[in-house]
Amino acid sequence: MCMCQFLLQLSQTEVFSLLLPQTSLKRSLDGMQSCEISSDSTDDPLSSGLRIHRQPRIVVIGAGLAGLSATKVLLENGFRDVTVLEASDHIGGRVQSVQHGRATLELGATWIHGACGNPVYHLAEDNGLLEHTTGGEMNVERISLYTTNGVAHYQTNNGKRIPKDLVEEFSDLYNEVYELTQEFFQNGKPVCAESQNSVGVFTRDVVCKRIMLDPDDCESTKKLKLSMLQQYLKVESCESSSPSMDEVSLSEFGEWTEIPGAHYVIPKGFMKIVELLARDIPSKTICLSKPVRCIHWNYSAQHQEVNAGSDDTRLDNNHNENNHGCQPHEHPLSLGHPICVECEDEEWITADHVIVTTSLGALKENHETMFSPSLPRDKVFAIEKLGISTTDKIFLEYEEPFWSPECNSIHFVWEDEAQLEHLAYPEELWYKKICSFDVLHPPERYGYMLSGWICGQEALYMERCDDETVAEICTELLRRFTGNPDIPKPRRILRSSWGSNPYIRGSYSFTRVGSSGADCERLAMPLPYANCTKAPPLQVLFAGEATHRKYYSTAHGALMSGQREATRLTEMYRDLHRAQTIKPNI
Ligand SMILES: Cc1cc2nc3c(=O)[nH]c(=O)nc-3n(C[C@H](O)[C@H](O)[C@H](O)COP(=O)(O)OP(=O)(O)OC[C@H]3O[C@@H](n4cnc5c(N)ncnc54)[C@H](O)[C@@H]3O)c2cc1C
Repeated sequence: MCMCQFLLQLSQTEVFSLLLPQTSLKRSLDGMQSCEISSDSTDDPLSSGLRIHRQPRIVVIGAGLAGLSATKVLLENGFRDVTVLEASDHIGGRVQSVQHGRATLELGATWIHGACGNPVYHLAEDNGLLEHTTGGEMNVERISLYTTNGVAHYQTNNGKRIPKDLVEEFSDLYNEVYELTQEFFQNGKPVCAESQNSVGVFTRDVVCKRIMLDPDDCESTKKLKLSMLQQYLKVESCESSSPSMDEVSLSEFGEWTEIPGAHYVIPKGFMKIVELLARDIPSKTICLSKPVRCIHWNYSAQHQEVNAGSDDTRLDNNHNENNHGCQPHEHPLSLGHPICVECEDEEWITADHVIVTTSLGALKENHETMFSPSLPRDKVFAIEKLGISTTDKIFLEYEEPFWSPECNSIHFVWEDEAQLEHLAYPEELWYKKICSFDVLHPPERYGYMLSGWICGQEALYMERCDDETVAEICTELLRRFTGNPDIPKPRRILRSSWGSNPYIRGSYSFTRVGSSGADCERLAMPLPYANCTKAPPLQVLFAGEATHRKYYSTAHGALMSGQREATRLTEMYRDLHRAQTIKPNI
């Protein structure tokens, strides 16, 4: 529906509310807006429209990359009545850089994946954040054996290092099969059967066959290669943030798109990107420690029907002007706002539009109570079908390195797992899912630091343990696999806990078997749907990494999704004000 049609279909009050000259609203709006009425007709219809008409009230839920990028774009386009509600006491969401002695450690996003066309890369580059990135940090590839800092050490549970040439041979085979997994989506190759539509099932099947059919390998080499396959699948599931590659859809795997270029780290911390986005957002716009309980959308219509004549004292009864700098908001019926955002602290905030950027994990857990009326069934299905799991990091700091100078990582290959069909462990064996520890380089920046990876349910088991237990278990693992009983306990340990964070519930999304890119788009679709012509449009918009069809799971996907939704609103108001200029007397 175009905006002219939309305007014509709105009730008189609704049009009044959206296009009311700003002078009439001087008393009720928060004083940030100018009361001047511009007579500049040559202006862009959006900027002149936003100057002379009532500013729409926009609430952004979440101050991660998606929420902050959406807010930045809205403010840049002249929207002034924007409020960000963030549940935790800090901005950044799944970007969390922690100062640990001299080192800046990333509990969340670490690498900028790709350069040209990656907005995160351009922000970093334009602001000199990549200046001290080393060659090694720029060239991290997926499951790479060699970096400029050294070579990966594959160790078995018997304390033996697997010879380099054997690791290389297996790695080539695995990477060849990985390329085959991409073909299903990219070349439209059909999967044999739905039961075979899994990256894990396919990879295990093809790699195993090739290993078993290789006439040059003896039985023990075959067994070692099969054990390496399990370790590679653990690494792959950490990268996908899936519980196991068996859950990742083969037919959709190739849709995730890599931006060309290297992978970069930001030596001063990924958080610098968050700070750059937040730099131009007035601090009073962002309300921290402000969890949202429920979004009542289509609110004024329902409320008028249900509570006609009643005095709803719950609304705004808890207002506090000094509450994180938030401005007070008036009763929704006073201006016919279609939305009421109910916060955990009982404050109700009225809005014309809400941009929801909470993670897929948080939506899975809360969607039933977070939206009133409930989300449409197809959106619920999309939320249920798409996958998200926990990938956690474990940082271990040592006084001295116990690894050799040419070692860039230590990988754990369990020889007794060669025949395993599923990589899932009971709680007491959670540590078997730790796939490797990377050596953080350069030591002048990080000291002697290892960074371990674990994913799935086992990551949640790890999160339940205390630091002491995890440090002990990791030490035992390292001693056993390197064959060095003298490895000391780490001086310090630091871990992420993305799974137990009630406002995150997982690390990043993946296309689970049975889901597809269409589900990401369904998740992104604003409410009410376009076919619902009577209700005010674009009430609830959705951003966040999981809503990006090609770049889900990434920082750039999150950032772009926020920009996308802010642009959607901007375009609507541009059309609306253009229509108003053309038809002033509708
Ligand atoms: C371990 C790990 C490693 C990663 N590595 C990389 C990497 O190397 N490269 C890369 O590109 N990406 C990486 N990512 C992914 C990247 O960090 C995310 O895709 C991105 O940060 C997500 O941003 P977002 O804004 O979509 O969501 P979030 O950052 O999750 O922001 C959503 C915000 O909403 C808030 N919220 C939730 N519920 C409520 C509520 N009810 N009320 C108010 N606020 C609420 C949350 O507190 C959160 O701050 C990694 C992520 C993790 C966890």
